[in-house]
Amino acid sequence: NLQVILKDYVNGFPKESDMLLKTSSITPFKLPQGSNAVLVKNLYLSCDPYMRGRMSKNQGSYVDSFTPGSPIVGYGVSKVVDSGHSNFKKDDLTWGGTGWEEYSFIPNPDTLFKIQDTDVPLSYYTGILGMPGMTAYIGFHEICAPKKGEYVFVSAASGAVGQLVGQFAKLTGCYVVGSAGTKEKVELLKNKFGFDEAFNYKEEHDLNAALKRYFPQGIDIYFENVGGKMLEAVLLNMRLNGRISVCGMISQYNLEEGEGVKNLFCLINQRIRMQGFIAVDHYHLYSKYVEMVIPLIKEGKICYVEDIAEGLESAPAALVGLFSGKNVGKQVVVVARE
Ligand code: NDP
Repeated sequence: NLQVILKDYVNGFPKESDMLLKTSSITPFKLPQGSNAVLVKNLYLSCDPYMRGRMSKNQGSYVDSFTPGSPIVGYGVSKVVDSGHSNFKKDDLTWGGTGWEEYSFIPNPDTLFKIQDTDVPLSYYTGILGMPGMTAYIGFHEICAPKKGEYVFVSAASGAVGQLVGQFAKLTGCYVVGSAGTKEKVELLKNKFGFDEAFNYKEEHDLNAALKRYFPQGIDIYFENVGGKMLEAVLLNMRLNGRISVCGMISQYNLEEGEGVKNLFCLINQRIRMQGFIAVDHYHLYSKYVEMVIPLIKEGKICYVEDIAEGLESAPAALVGLFSGKNVGKQVVVVARE
């Protein structure tokens, strides 16, 4: 059973060498008699920025730290090999928490979602039909209550979550602008995801001026993925009664201490509501979301770009790449296709 092991807690930017590939001798698995658990074969693994927090010792985050010496854990799409749980049987497909290894033992299968619709790429259950999809849906629709004609800005806009927020905003009838870190990503935003405008934040020496250029009338909704200087500039450009959905702040994840944020007084002047959220708190809305989004996928009204890394061996580089913007779209690792 090939596994990706976290060697030790990480400080600063994570590196491939913080992880190690190791073959565990504990194969094949056998479920203990009377166990409630399931054994799964992992097919697709999801690389997500929040996993960086779990690589640190004292992270003050909403999820526990990883255990050095043990496999990394995260979201994945898997196939049931053996089941002691009444809801799952052999060959069922699932998405949810699993290990970065070929086969995993899931002691609490109640956390897994059974995949019902296999008429779409299975890897989508790490993205548009999984946690990032729910994140975009909750953070945009539930937190911001967008209205037709509103002005929306999305940062890290070409990623797993951002590309969906932009498309949801267009489907709602909003004007939407995205920022991303390369020319290729900016082209994707405009030509593939239908953003009205997009810009490369790395080429703008004055983010406030850039936002004023794209939003002369100001921003109603900011979908926050990056934090730091971008947030400071956005605050100066928010309209009256604006909403900021705080999804993530990836620019801060590798810093020893988060930076202070300037311009918070704008929250008062402009009567802005700024709200953080965590997708997992809203999983009771998953079936509602899926009913909405699967027809959109099948009718070609929404698209989803993935960045596929082949093989468990490529997983450390894929995960680390999120923090330098190497991924174009949702970063997925293929362990096996069936
Ligand atoms: P992405 O697929 O967008 O990948 C991360 C991207 O972030 C990179 O490709 C890069 O794009 C950008 N980035 C990396 N470092 C920086 C930096 N220093 N400054 C600005 N941009 C940077 O990831 P996701 O879509 O999965 O996640 C997006 C955000 O949503 C993250 O902050 C994540 O933590 C958060 N999140 C929150 C959840 C919640 O429940 N609250 C759930 C899921 C995600 P570029 O080339 O454009 O710089």
